[in-house]
Amino acid sequence: MPKYFPVIGLEIHCQLATRTKMFCGCEIEVNTSPNKHVCPVCLGMPGAMPVPNKKAVEYAIRLGLALHCDIDLNAMWTRKNYFYPDLPKGYQITQTGGLPVYDHPICKNGWIEVTLADGAVKRIGITRIHMEEDAGKLIHDASPSESLFDANRCGTPLCEIVTEPDIRSPEEAVLALQKIKQILEYTEVSNANMENGNMRCDGNISLRTSEDAPYGTRSEIKNLNSFSNLEKALKAEMLYQSLVLDAGKEVEQCTKRFDPNSNKTIVIRSKEDAHDYKYFPEPDMMRLVTDPEFAEEIRRTLPELPDARRERFVESYGITPYDAQVLTLDREVSVWFDTAAKNCRNPKMLANWVISELLREVKELEGGLSQVKIRPEQLADLVNLIDDNTISGKIGKQVFAEMFATGKDPKKIVEEKGLIQITDTSAIEAIVRDVIAANAAQFEEFKSGKSALKGFFVGQVMKKSGGKANPPLVNQLLDRFAGE
Ligand code: ADP
Ligand code: MG
Ligand code: ZN
Repeated sequence: MPKYFPVIGLEIHCQLATRTKMFCGCEIEVNTSPNKHVCPVCLGMPGAMPVPNKKAVEYAIRLGLALHCDIDLNAMWTRKNYFYPDLPKGYQITQTGGLPVYDHPICKNGWIEVTLADGAVKRIGITRIHMEEDAGKLIHDASPSESLFDANRCGTPLCEIVTEPDIRSPEEAVLALQKIKQILEYTEVSNANMENGNMRCDGNISLRTSEDAPYGTRSEIKNLNSFSNLEKALKAEMLYQSLVLDAGKEVEQCTKRFDPNSNKTIVIRSKEDAHDYKYFPEPDMMRLVTDPEFAEEIRRTLPELPDARRERFVESYGITPYDAQVLTLDREVSVWFDTAAKNCRNPKMLANWVISELLREVKELEGGLSQVKIRPEQLADLVNLIDDNTISGKIGKQVFAEMFATGKDPKKIVEEKGLIQITDTSAIEAIVRDVIAANAAQFEEFKSGKSALKGFFVGQVMKKSGGKANPPLVNQLLDRFAGE
């Protein structure tokens, strides 16, 4: 029995994929010249008035509905005050704020489900989703003596998703984050790219001595930018807290960061309290009143979500739940497979080809799936050619390699290279006879019971036929000759 049981909750920030900023018309553009997209509103000049971005609100509601939340049609903006060099305004407009009267985030009380390693489905509560604006960016490594400031990111719309402390292991935390990233992608509300920083995760964790003990004191590890760092950081913090508890001391609530090089969590600051931010209702804006029709329209047009797509793949294509899971993890892959499967007579075989051939190649390919030359319909055609015995699976791999390199149609490749499978028994029989004649001694051994030699004969026949002989027929013929 483990001595300590972890309790984990996540806070996930994601940048919404709008064209313009949260409260002004400035364009959102990455990799551009610094301070190009700024105005009095996102710089917080006195007298400038913020106006909420309707698209951002639509995205937040869509995300909330996808996470099974209640939508607050009378949400509220609050002002969170703090000083930091990347925040010229000196405050951030958000939807959270200490006192319950100020606390009206746009979405509340949702849930997600994750499938655990043992196959059990576990539900994890979503406490809330609130909207807020991002700060700017400091660049420290441009010169040894200066830090530079880029305000392009000031005022970029964010959603912060907060989970209930329902997660019970670092592995489960990874599954929860994966599911949320997947939903962000399927709903297309965010690019949810952790490497580019448009999705970041804070992990909160505490330990307790039994699974029904009250929750312990938590620490919060900020800005984890990959699944593996989330898992490693939580494990490192578990180890740290268990040593503190073993020594008979108490864990102190604090905010930390994770250093992947030393594999340790490091204290940034002791936990700030809500009153440190002097939250108050944002005086420059009314409450965020949403027309119920607007919310209803978003609900009606909600796209198919990952769980539903996974189940549909199992039901309509007859593939295994495991394959369906792999094929729906990434939205782009799921759309690709779906298109191919609609054109394929053997979706099960197609699933194998996508998982073990296509995705393996894609991993090595810069730019990923979007750079693949094979169209989904073409891979479906290839599988159809194997399914109706026009070519063997082995030749299929050869054709696949050429399709991957050139984007050519499989039928064309098969015709041009004369790869059509030999299913004419008499043609194969002639080859089998030749092979037997050339290996008479081995064939005698095979006949007298050394069945391991069969593979050798099949291999020889396949080689001689240029891989085109139909393998089941070759096997049948060998058995027949051996029995003669
Ligand atoms: P704050 O706003 O101060 O960060 P919240 O109440 O919003 O505090 O909680 C933040 C996160 O901490 C949530 O994801 C929640 O699930 C998690 N959490 C709360 N209590 C605990 C605890 N005792 N152990 C682990 N995680 C916790
Ligand atoms: Mg928090
Ligand atoms: Zn602006």
